[in-house]
Amino acid sequence: MGKMSVKDWADNVVKEEEIDRYLENGKDFIDHDAIERHLDNNKKPDKIKVRDIIQKSLSIERLDPDETAALLHVEDPELWQEMAAAGLEVKRKVYDNRIVIFAPLYCSNLCVNNCLYCGFRKDNTHEIRRVLTPDEVRMEAESLVKMGHKRLIVVYGEHPSSDADYMAETIKAIYEVREKTRKGTGTIRRVNINAAPLSVDDFKKLWKAGIGTYQVFQETYHRPTYKKMHPVGPKSDYRWRLYTHHRAMEAGIDDVAIGALFGLYHWRYDVMGLLYHAMELEKRFDGIGPHTVSFPRLMPADNAPYSEHTDHLVSDEEFKKLVTVLRLAIPYTGMIVTAREKPDLRKEVIKLGCTQTDASTRIGLGAYSEQYDRQDKERQQFVLGDTRELDDVVRELAQMGMISSFCTAGYRCGRTGDKIMGLLKCGTEGKFCKLNAVLTFREWLDDFSSPETQKIGEELIRKEIGEIRKDAFFRNNPLLKEFEDYYQRVSEGERDLFL
Ligand code: SAM
Ligand code: SF4
Repeated sequence: MGKMSVKDWADNVVKEEEIDRYLENGKDFIDHDAIERHLDNNKKPDKIKVRDIIQKSLSIERLDPDETAALLHVEDPELWQEMAAAGLEVKRKVYDNRIVIFAPLYCSNLCVNNCLYCGFRKDNTHEIRRVLTPDEVRMEAESLVKMGHKRLIVVYGEHPSSDADYMAETIKAIYEVREKTRKGTGTIRRVNINAAPLSVDDFKKLWKAGIGTYQVFQETYHRPTYKKMHPVGPKSDYRWRLYTHHRAMEAGIDDVAIGALFGLYHWRYDVMGLLYHAMELEKRFDGIGPHTVSFPRLMPADNAPYSEHTDHLVSDEEFKKLVTVLRLAIPYTGMIVTAREKPDLRKEVIKLGCTQTDASTRIGLGAYSEQYDRQDKERQQFVLGDTRELDDVVRELAQMGMISSFCTAGYRCGRTGDKIMGLLKCGTEGKFCKLNAVLTFREWLDDFSSPETQKIGEELIRKEIGEIRKDAFFRNNPLLKEFEDYYQRVSEGERDLFL
């Protein structure tokens, strides 16, 4: 950074030309009036219309704004039940019964922004600030590998001390980790990141470092609320954030993930914002929509007034509704529910068609390797709702008939971007996923599970293999033979075999 002050650095983050070139006639893709109009015109939708929309979603077609607005206004509890069931069906068609497991790793909590809801905001003097060194990051990753994790989302505050070069260095440190497990060797196989918007050149550094998905949340698509919540710093620029996925794609990162922080503005509006975002990415990038959509809910954060007092806090019932509508509106996308939510609600929301969740989560800086209290409020961004261990989450999912997948094959076989979108939309990706989910679940059970989880897991694996053998897609397909061979080898201790 040379002699540049933190303020000068922050003042130079936003590059207008890397916003302007994506605008159409000087406008961005969030058309506030159109969103309001769609929401106004679709109040009290009739049953037949809603059922037609459900059918469209079941054929894995993305819904239009009018259709999505209609679903958002359903009042009949019976229809909500039908929508919830359809959401799970959509998820089964695209992703089968697997849930991808990941863990967050927080590397830094220094931040030049002052988001009014976040414990890391610069004016929060209670927060203990820290930027982990690459060695400390490696130690965190070692602890995560020992727990059985293979896939991380690495999280950074926005600050010159955690710039793109630092991110690239931490990614490298994580990929280098090797830990002995009961039967094999454990590694982190996919590093996704959640970090502030970057320039195209900075994204290229991350791409070179081998990142999986680039995730960033718009927080709210409602401009006046956005402005109020993000008073200073680069994050106060709505459009710099809105077009960050465009820049990431331009730099070669073709898995991008969007999200909104629910509770800042009205949930119906932000569901529409997410839909518009997905439509824009599809339009600009040859049909490649967001790899995942996240819908974090505002949680209490230390010394962050707006984390507990906004006019738009989302109730559990509303939360379930918004997840249901998102599932139906963007049927091909992955959906992430996090440990922000309490165990019972998380379980319910998974049944609405989520595809990914985190486990054994600690969001304090250094909290995995240093083992301090995981709810220590001065060290973390907000308070978690579910701090259960990975083994408990895997067991609960298995009891629900869902297989925990530690698979990272899609990305490593080049099934990303347009390739994965095509496969997802036609249901083929789900087939690969099922095979890889079984292989990684076999590894995990042998390397990490408690006896209780092992027992339930074995039953599930038997059932899965039975289904694979019966599936017409695999009959006379050389993949089946290859799978059986890999399964045998993984059972004998070989690791990281995927299809
Ligand atoms: N600093 C980067 C940024 O803001 O994009 C990336 C990391 S930030 C720590 C990750 C996300 O945490 C934010 O995008 C926001 O949605 C979420 N978050 C912040 N405060 C929260 C709170 N009180 N409750 C729940 N989620 C919160
Ligand atoms: Fe900083 Fe991100 Fe927290 Fe905002 S949400 S204060 S940008 S860490």
